[in-house]
Amino acid sequence: MKLDNDLYCYPWTSMVENNCNSYYLGGKTPTLIDAGHKHRVSNLSSLMESDGIDPKGIKLVISTHAHPDHFEGNQIFTNNGAMMAIHKEEDRFLREVGGRFYRMFGMEMPDFKADFYLTEGSLVLGKNELQIYHTPGHSPGSISVYWHEKKALITGDVVFNQGVGRTDFPGCDGRLLKESIEKLSRLDVEYLLPGHGDIIVGKNEVIQNFDFIKKAIFAYL
Ligand SMILES: [Zn+2]
Repeated sequence: MKLDNDLYCYPWTSMVENNCNSYYLGGKTPTLIDAGHKHRVSNLSSLMESDGIDPKGIKLVISTHAHPDHFEGNQIFTNNGAMMAIHKEEDRFLREVGGRFYRMFGMEMPDFKADFYLTEGSLVLGKNELQIYHTPGHSPGSISVYWHEKKALITGDVVFNQGVGRTDFPGCDGRLLKESIEKLSRLDVEYLLPGHGDIIVGKNEVIQNFDFIKKAIFAYL
């Protein structure tokens, strides 16, 4: 689904199976943010194709974090020549506890090698300048991606529509999650693009969502 020039959203809507929302950023370095589960990639690929996007042309896969429902499908794109990038903390976390974590969900951790690490600051991909924010709390190396030109914020499992990411997995930290959400809430956002659930469009709606989370959820983190 096209949101804006070079910005596409592939929401996951099933009530019976978990997977993440995926986002495609066009331009000189066609980029996929969060590939989702491996067995759902063929579905994602055909949705992209129906929007005129060649999945084999993806040059970079960014993972907001390395939980299986966001990360497992990366391999299909890296096998086709895409580079893969995550935060260094997430790489460390995955190598330390990833095997156990994936087995919790009945899966084997995929082989992976980050081509480069995402660090807080700007990431320039052709004409697109993205800002990477380190937003730990749901996982130690969670990142959020802010595209200032589009006022689009991709949050992974940090912020959802009327909710936040779980804090009961290994590597979670509620205090850090609150700090991360505070940081993101200061950005000027028209499109809030979370890792699960509905996207939020409209500056006022985004502000209201951050206010709701701070009032209704922060006390429980
Ligand atoms: Zn997650």
